[in-house]
This record gives sequence, structure tokens and C-alpha cells, in this order.
Amino acid sequence: MSTPLVFHDVNSLTNHLDSFREKGKKIGFVPTMGALHEGHLSLLESCFRDCDICVISIFVNPRQFNDSKDFANYPRQISADLSTLSSYSNLVIFLPQENEIYNPNRIIPNINLGSLPNTMEGSSRPGHFKGVAQVVYLLFDIVKPNRAYFGMKDFQQLSIIKHLVKALNLPIEIIGCPTSREPSGLARSSRNQLLSSQQKKEAEVIYQVLLFIKNNVRIMNINNVLKGGLSLLNQSSLRLDYLTIVDPETLLPVEDFNGNGQCCIAVFCGDVRLIDNIELN
Ligand code: AMP
Repeated sequence: MSTPLVFHDVNSLTNHLDSFREKGKKIGFVPTMGALHEGHLSLLESCFRDCDICVISIFVNPRQFNDSKDFANYPRQISADLSTLSSYSNLVIFLPQENEIYNPNRIIPNINLGSLPNTMEGSSRPGHFKGVAQVVYLLFDIVKPNRAYFGMKDFQQLSIIKHLVKALNLPIEIIGCPTSREPSGLARSSRNQLLSSQQKKEAEVIYQVLLFIKNNVRIMNINNVLKGGLSLLNQSSLRLDYLTIVDPETLLPVEDFNGNGQCCIAVFCGDVRLIDNIELN
């Protein structure tokens, strides 16, 4: 049993991890932006099942926010996060400052993400995935994990990271983990704590829309099933950003459902933007 070790700088982190790597230990990695909840912890549980040592990073990456107000309002609660993590053994916590990550000596290769960032989150949040790809590349370069764990809650992000690892031929296995939900069905998210209890209740409709679409996509055509989902949403005060069914590989909209698709949604609940998705197979 060992309590978690906290590192703020890259050199001491990499020295520590090298000593494990030299002994042939398997290193798992869970990158996060903190304000930890059970969704993050479920990734950590998967990591601990597979790996000898787990690294969790907490870094609110400015480059993936296209809206400075969203960046400023993003929940930050390092002390609570450290206390949440305090009971884990064999855990390494990486809490870098921005200059540790974006060190000008660290070269970021040109990462061709193909057309994957052009839809959904990419079109609503210009530059978001460029920022995500850069920070994930840099974190991978620092931690050099054998495996890295990402939530299916951020479905497009997971696809893009799998693509990045393949495109750059990185020796890292990417593991997608199921979405952790509240008993109401609402997907757990750090942003949920920005919601009032009334808004949180209203946000339950997001999962109801996804379930409606999953249950009806085989008996209605795509246009009509999306319209049905939208009319459910319109009974709440949530504002739609997008609701779409995409091919899980290309992330392009599916016109005729052939048994394979991912339904993805983004809405605004007040000022808070929430995303979710469901597999339709
Ligand atoms: P974030 O801190 O929001 O950047 O998320 C860090 C990681 O946790 C990402 O891989 C997310 O996809 C994942 N994650 C966030 N929420 C959930 C959830 N409800 N269930 C499973 N994974 C999640």
C-alpha cells in the first residue's frame, strides 16, 4: 500500500515513471480536467484493473476552450480532488502548470485528424479538437503510458484520440470506457455542478431523448425519429445545439439507418453546455 504521489513538474514525474518502466511495470493513464466525479473514477478503476501503476493528470487546458468565459467558469477544486484520490494505492497524480505542458522545447507534430473534427463538437467549438489533440499528444509524450483511458461520454474526442495514436504510430493502447450516469440517467460531468437543482432536473430530458431515439430508430425513419427526440427536448427549457445520428467510424451523419450508428446531442442548459450520446446498435 502506498498513498498517491503528487508531481507538479515533468522531470520528477518522468524520473519516477522511468523507474517503474525499467522494471517492466505497465503504466496506465487517465487524463482529466479535474472536478472529479464518479465518471472519472470509473476510468481509474478500469486503469487499476489492467495496469501496475496509474497516472491521473488534472489540467484545465486553455487551448481547448474556444470561449474564454467557459474557461474562466470551468470548475476547479484541487483540494477536493486530492482528497477524493487520497485512498488510492499505486496512484501518481500529475498537476502541471501551463508552462510545464506548453514548454516551447517540446515539439508538437502536425497532427492530421482528417475530417473527424469537422462535425458536432468541432463545428460548434472551432479549434476545440486542435487543442485537445495538442494537449493529449504532449501528455502522452510526458507520461508514455502503455494504456490510456477515455470516456465514451466524449465520443468524438475518443474517436479523434484513437485516430491520433494511429496516425502518429504511438505505442499506446486507447481504452474507451462506458458513460457513468446518475440514477436519473443524466451523464456525470464536471459541468453538472454549474447547474441549479432545477436545471439538473430539467437536464434529465437529455437521456430521455437519447433513449427515445434508440428505441424508435428501427421503426421510424431517421428524420422522423430525430424530430420526435427534438419535440421531447422542446418540452423543457433546454436549447438544442445539435442532435444527430452519425456513423461511429467516420462521424458523418447517417441518412438511412442500417443498424449501426451513434446518436449524439449537445444542448445548453442556461449557460452550461452539456453533451451526451448513445450507441444505437
Ligand atoms: P474531463 O475531465 O471532462 O476532460 O474528462 C476526463 C475524462 O473523463 C475524459 O476521457 C472523459 O470522457 C471522461 N468522462 C467524463 N465524464 C464521464 C462519464 N460520465 N463517464 C465516463 N467517463 C467520463
